[in-house]
Amino acid sequence: MANPQKRLDQMVAKLRENNYRITPQRLAVLKILAASAGHPSVEKIYHKVKKDFPTTSLATVYKTLIVMKEVGEVLELGFGEGGNRYDGNKPYPHPHLICTECGKIIDPQIEALPGMTEALMAATGFKINTHRLDFFGVCPNCQKTR
Ligand code: ZN
Ligand code: MN
Repeated sequence: MANPQKRLDQMVAKLRENNYRITPQRLAVLKILAASAGHPSVEKIYHKVKKDFPTTSLATVYKTLIVMKEVGEVLELGFGEGGNRYDGNKPYPHPHLICTECGKIIDPQIEALPGMTEALMAATGFKINTHRLDFFGVCPNCQKTR
């Protein structure tokens, strides 16, 4: 995991480079994305920001996420009906482990994957630009309480 403060500085720098305004509300959203504890949903981010900035609207959170996607500083994990989740700490494609009981999402720490893109390109002739790799299961906590 990248240092959240360092990630926040990178995000702010990227917005400045692209001439986006940094409002206090937007900064609060960025702070949450920079840590990305538990890969928050839009609603989760919204509720957290509202604690410090009660006038924040859900639209502000959505707009900030759209901007951050545009500048490549957040990774969006789409889950259709289950709602999207966000990782601003590691904005590049990486594998995820998802608990189908409680919705917990973690970044597994394994080294088996980096060579896979190269191997696939060699085997298929595809020029691979990105990837998505999700593992679904039940987390240790949910296994205990089942
Ligand atoms: Zn769970
Ligand atoms: Mn992640």
